[in-house]
Amino acid sequence: MIKVTLTTVILAALILIGLTQLQGGEMEKNSKSEKNSVKDIPKDSVMSEKKINKTDDEWQCSLTPEQFRIARQKGTEPAFSGLFYNFKEPGRYVCVCCGSDLFSSDTKYESGSGWPSFWAPISDENIAMHTDTSLAMVRTELTCRNCGAHLGHVFDDGPQPTGQRYCVNSASLKFIKKDEK
Ligand SMILES: [Zn+2]
Repeated sequence: MIKVTLTTVILAALILIGLTQLQGGEMEKNSKSEKNSVKDIPKDSVMSEKKINKTDDEWQCSLTPEQFRIARQKGTEPAFSGLFYNFKEPGRYVCVCCGSDLFSSDTKYESGSGWPSFWAPISDENIAMHTDTSLAMVRTELTCRNCGAHLGHVFDDGPQPTGQRYCVNSASLKFIKKDEK
């Protein structure tokens, strides 16, 4: 009788432990699925900042092949080859894709890099920055906030007062002379 009772107690204990573990497991599962549901927020709400969303075909119609490759496909023009690296007219540079104001000739300087270089944008609100880990480097990519056009990269070896170098492809820019709209 004693033996049977012991076995029963042990069995009961095992069943209890098993049940507790099962419940624990379910609770864990529940909390996991709650976490997942937070992550499952539609991504559109994050990406809605960009105001112009055209397809590649639409962009190709309004840009030259070189402009399309650089501004829409994150290309880079060869150094010392672009229209504006050695260009000193007074005026402003707008996005070649959407016309948004990006840089002024007042902040353009000769960096020696072979690309148009500026120490500040016309407005921080017109540009966006992203971490770019391509080509085995960590760089800060610069894009037009309005349409997402790739402009170039930002480096922290620029002149004062900002110490920033906005290194931009000529092909992503359109120049508007001073006093011209
Ligand atoms: Zn743009």
